[in-house]
Amino acid sequence: MIDLKKNNSDYDAIFVGAGIMSATLAILLTEIYPEINILILEKLDNAGKESTSAFNNAGTGHAANCELNYTPINNDGEIELKKALSINNSFEKSLELWASLYETGKIDCKKFLRFTPHISFVSGEKDVSFLEKRYQLLSGFNEFKDMELSSNFSEISSWVPLITKNRNKNIKIAATRVKRGTDIDFGALTSEYLKYLVKNKNVEVNYLSEVFDLNKLDNNWSVHFKKDGKRKNLVAKYIFLGAGGKSITLLQKSKIPEGKLFGGFPVSGKWLICENNELTRQHNAKVYGKAAMGSPPMSVPHLDARWINGQRYLLFGPFAGSTTKFLKEGSFFDLFNSLKINNILPAVDVGFKNSDLIKYLISESIQNHSSRIKSLKKMMPSANSNDWYLKNAGQRVQIIKKTQKGGVLKFGTEIVNSSDGSLSALLGASPGASTAVNIMTEVLRNSCFFKEDKEFFENRISNLITPYCKYQENIKSRNNSILGFHQFT
Ligand SMILES: Cc1cc2nc3c(=O)[nH]c(=O)nc-3n(C[C@H](O)[C@H](O)[C@H](O)COP(=O)(O)OP(=O)(O)OC[C@H]3O[C@@H](n4cnc5c(N)ncnc54)[C@H](O)[C@@H]3O)c2cc1C
Repeated sequence: MIDLKKNNSDYDAIFVGAGIMSATLAILLTEIYPEINILILEKLDNAGKESTSAFNNAGTGHAANCELNYTPINNDGEIELKKALSINNSFEKSLELWASLYETGKIDCKKFLRFTPHISFVSGEKDVSFLEKRYQLLSGFNEFKDMELSSNFSEISSWVPLITKNRNKNIKIAATRVKRGTDIDFGALTSEYLKYLVKNKNVEVNYLSEVFDLNKLDNNWSVHFKKDGKRKNLVAKYIFLGAGGKSITLLQKSKIPEGKLFGGFPVSGKWLICENNELTRQHNAKVYGKAAMGSPPMSVPHLDARWINGQRYLLFGPFAGSTTKFLKEGSFFDLFNSLKINNILPAVDVGFKNSDLIKYLISESIQNHSSRIKSLKKMMPSANSNDWYLKNAGQRVQIIKKTQKGGVLKFGTEIVNSSDGSLSALLGASPGASTAVNIMTEVLRNSCFFKEDKEFFENRISNLITPYCKYQENIKSRNNSILGFHQFT
């Protein structure tokens, strides 16, 4: 572990952006290494206002309970489980951390987490047979032992009445349900973390502070930012770029060679929202359907029960849109400014190779209210257009990576580390906030703080995130006694 006293910088670490990723990294780092001092620089006037904000994402604690795109069919026609198991395992780590922080009185889980059944719903022979096969495979694993399957119309009606009302009973349907799914307000979680950190640890957050450049000194980084119309700079040993869609731009500014491989492809999102109490109280689940053939992973339609600031909502979507902004509060020049000599050819290559995606984005952008309601009716046949209004979601910036075979478009997340471990950046958006604990553990593992002392790090992190997930009984006891499962079912 590095000796912080030898370090003549303003802060041990500076994190750019006060979203769920920086907040998670700060909580993990200070729990493992309490003496450390951290400054978080945030361009907006509060934390968690970009993609992390409740309405800017779907609030699904992604555990592969219901997301059918996590169990794709491979070239041999078989259902692949690898991604589902790995995402489930990552999310368990988030639950573990929250339970451990809750038990020690550091955060209040009721402020951000509600147990909400996760349901996959399909119709038609082919998709019903896919779901049955998926159920048979997954329910053999401890992680999915509690999954239920039904193709009985009235049973599915009792699970999700809005999905079956006015539905044609001649078309076969099926659903799976995992009761211990979650709805999470990631904005509220970020506030919980930061409230605790600022009060109890050496963590400061400077709002209305926009980082515009950074450069490497001998053993430190100099970070340049604007606050109150003035240019300032501070020096730190370690930098984390948790600036959401803007991390790509800042990574380019850092000039580390690892950053030259990347470009960004922004996709905006929209939801249909319903606040009608008559309907919101009838739907207590997150219901994921099957994406249309050939459409990208972010297009999986879902009808979600949401609890935001104590109010119930229904949310349907996402509908994609084309944009050139890297953040919701970003600039229309973001995409153009990110194009550099190193990434322009891969970006053009990705454009050619992904013409279906471009067509999909154009067709989504030109939809009007009635065509969006038509999509909703496939999931909820009784939907009435007057109950629903459109709301912008957050921006996703998909990664364009330069490879030997040209540009590749990636839908996941990617951690980029400088070779000396003094800078890390998080790119991409999916599966996102749910797996922040796992992703940030990986960031820390390769950081300059622990690079040379892996044993110390592994010991500390495993005390914080006990691998309960291997034992079904322990999961139940944790969910019931610590996270409050019983209160919401
Ligand atoms: C439509 C949609 C649906 C989603 N659904 C889910 C879901 O159901 N479940 C899930 O787990 N994940 C979901 N995600 C992904 C999830 O929202 C993101 O992975 C997560 O919020 C990213 O957090 P972050 O901290 O990296 O970025 P952000 O929340 O975007 O935070 C970045 C912060 O950096 C600040 N910033 C940017 N530039 C600068 C700068 N130059 N100087 C200072 N500050 C700066 C921004 O203002 C912002 O506060 C979804 C995303 C979208 C867009």
